[in-house]
Amino acid sequence: MAERAPETAGIPAVDTLAQRAAHVVRDGRAFICGKRQEPEGDARFEVISPMDGEVVATPADAGAREVDAAVAAARAAFADGRWRNLAASSRAKVLQRFAARIAEDAETLGLLDTLQMGKPAAHAIAGAREAAEGLEVCAAQIETLGDQIVPSAPGSLFLQARRPRGVVVAITPWNYPAQIALAKVGAALAMGNSVVLKPSEIAPLACLRLAELSAEAGLPDGVFNALPGTGRRTGRMLALHDDVDCLSFVGSTATGQALMQYAGQSNMKALLLECGGKSAQIVFDDLGDPVGLAEALVNGFVANSGQICVSGSRILLADSIYDHMLPYLAAAVERLMIGDPMVPDTALSPLATLAQAEKVRGFIESGCDAGRCVAKGSDTTGLDTAVAPHLFVVKDPDCRMAQEEIFGPVGAVLRFSTPEDAIRIANATRYGLAATVWTRDVALAHRVTRELNAGFVFAHATTQPSDPGVRSLSGEPCRMSGFGIDGGALGMLSYTRLQAVGYLLG
Ligand code: ADP
Repeated sequence: MAERAPETAGIPAVDTLAQRAAHVVRDGRAFICGKRQEPEGDARFEVISPMDGEVVATPADAGAREVDAAVAAARAAFADGRWRNLAASSRAKVLQRFAARIAEDAETLGLLDTLQMGKPAAHAIAGAREAAEGLEVCAAQIETLGDQIVPSAPGSLFLQARRPRGVVVAITPWNYPAQIALAKVGAALAMGNSVVLKPSEIAPLACLRLAELSAEAGLPDGVFNALPGTGRRTGRMLALHDDVDCLSFVGSTATGQALMQYAGQSNMKALLLECGGKSAQIVFDDLGDPVGLAEALVNGFVANSGQICVSGSRILLADSIYDHMLPYLAAAVERLMIGDPMVPDTALSPLATLAQAEKVRGFIESGCDAGRCVAKGSDTTGLDTAVAPHLFVVKDPDCRMAQEEIFGPVGAVLRFSTPEDAIRIANATRYGLAATVWTRDVALAHRVTRELNAGFVFAHATTQPSDPGVRSLSGEPCRMSGFGIDGGALGMLSYTRLQAVGYLLG
C-alpha cells in the first residue's frame, strides 16, 4: 500500500519516452477466449489524454453480447477445469511466465497508462515492474495455500478445503490502472478462478494488454478475459450477471454501494469492495528531522497527484509540535511542481481528467471557507488538468475539506491534544481505509493503532521506510471504505470459498 520512490534506472530520456509513447500500439479491443475480438456494436467511448486532449483510443463500450461471451468463456474454462485442476506448481509456472512477460513489456504498459491518465511515465513503468514482482510473489504462494486437516477422531477425517469461487469479475479504477488490475487478477488466477476484467473507461488499454500477455505466457484460453466499457453499461451488466460468482472492485464508495445493490438484485454474488478513504496521518512530537518528516507527510497526500485511495489527506499534528511543524509542511508543499509526465524525473503530473481537475479545484475553493490555505505548489505545464498541491489548516474536523475524499493533491492539517483526541479525530469520518502513526514510542503507536478504524495502518519510526515485504500484508477496509480482505496470502484466499468436508468413515 505504501508509495515507494520509483526506480528510474533504465528509464529512457524524455525525447525517447515521448517518441516511444507516440509509437505504442493502442489496441482497445476486448480480449475474449484467448484472442482480441472485433467490437459487436457501434457504441464507443473516447479515451482522452489529460496532456493535450488527444483522443488516445475509441474502444467499444462492450454490450450484452460481449459481456455474455466473456462470462461464458470464463465459465466454460472454469467448468472443464483446464486451469483450476492443474497442479498448483503448474499454475505457479504459468503465472511466473506471465510476470516475466509483464516485466519485459513494462515500458509499453507504463506508457499506455501515462498516455491515458497522465501519471509520470517513470512511475508508471516502475509500477508495471512492481506489479510483475507482485505477481511473482503470488505465484510463489500458491503452493503454501492448501487445505487444512482439523482435529478428527480415528474414524473420521475433517478438512477445511478451499475451492476457487468460479467466475470472478474485477472492476478496477484509473489511478493505478495496470497495477490494481493485476493485483486483483493475479490473486484470482492464482487460486484457480476464471476472470473477466473490466478496467476503467478512463485508462483501459494497458489492462486489456495484460490479458493478451497472459495468453502469450500460456494461460489457457478463456481463463482471463478483458472487456473495455463504461461503468454504467459494461460494468453494470457484469455486476448484474447471474453467472458471475464474485465481484472484486476498487473505486468510489458510490459505485461500491451500487454494486451491492446489483449483487442483491441478481444472484447474490460475493463482493470484495475497496472504496474511498480519508486517511489520517497522526504525528506525535518525538520524531527529529522536521524536513524529512514534512516531506514524508506531504508525500503521503500528494503521491500520484493525490489520486490514491490510501492518500493521507488529513495530517493530525500534536499540539506540542503544531507551530514548529507547520512551516516545514508549508515549505515542503511550496517546493512541489506539476510537470510533464514524459520527463523522467517528474514526480507530480496533471490529474487524469478535466472533470477530476475541476472537482479538485472546487474543493480548493470551498476549502477556503472552512480553513486557511497556508501553502501552494506550482505548475509548469499550464494545462487545465493540472492542479498544484495545496495545504490547508482546518479547525473543524467535520468540514468538507476534512471529511470528503478529494482525490487530488490537497491536504488538511488539524491539531490534537492527547492520543485519545487523535484517535477520535482520526476515526471521525465515514471511511475506514488507512492511517499512519508517526512516533518512536512503540507502546504509544500500539495503543493508537489498535483503536483506529482502518484496514491498513503503518506506524513510522523513520521517514524513510523501504520494505517491499509490505506487499505480503493483508488488510480489510471497514465502514464506507468497503470490505473483503485484500493483499498478501489472506487476500489470495478471498478468491476462494471455504468448504467444510467431513469423511465419516469408521
Ligand atoms: P472514479 O470516480 O474514481 O472513476 P468509479 O467508482 O466511478 O470511480 O469507477 C471505478 C470503476 O467502476 C470503473 O471501472 C468504472 O467503469 C466502474 N463503474 C462505475 N460505475 C459503475 C456502475 N454503476 N456499475 C459497475 N461499474 C461501475
